[in-house]
Amino acid sequence: MFIPHAPSGYLLAKAIIRPACSSAFAKAIILVGVVGAVIPDIDMVYFYLFDHRLHHHKYFTHWPITWLALLLMATVLLRWAATKKAAFLLAVFALGGMLHMLLDSVVGDIWWQAPWLKQPLKLFTIEAVYQPGG
Ligand SMILES: [Zn+2]
Repeated sequence: MFIPHAPSGYLLAKAIIRPACSSAFAKAIILVGVVGAVIPDIDMVYFYLFDHRLHHHKYFTHWPITWLALLLMATVLLRWAATKKAAFLLAVFALGGMLHMLLDSVVGDIWWQAPWLKQPLKLFTIEAVYQPGG
């Protein structure tokens, strides 16, 4: 869900911030780190409003390739763009999304090889003790 991933994005951003960063840039890094760590779950809005069929981890916002592509784009921009700050913020945003994928993979299904293979992966399985409505 949205809120539990925010602290991970904050901690990621704090680990990235260096003393040489201006206060405004440090705040921007924290903002994009938190938003990047939370934004993959925006697909739940689509799930609840329109779809109701697919596990929300099957949407492209929960495909690791989405976040790796953004990270690759940020890397290219960091090399070639005239202003590096926006590219750096994009990299922090993408790292926040990748952190979300890693944390969701602990006990949740993540389709690491999507869109090529439809096989979810997770580290641990937690058996349901209670059944809904039971
Ligand atoms: Zn998620």
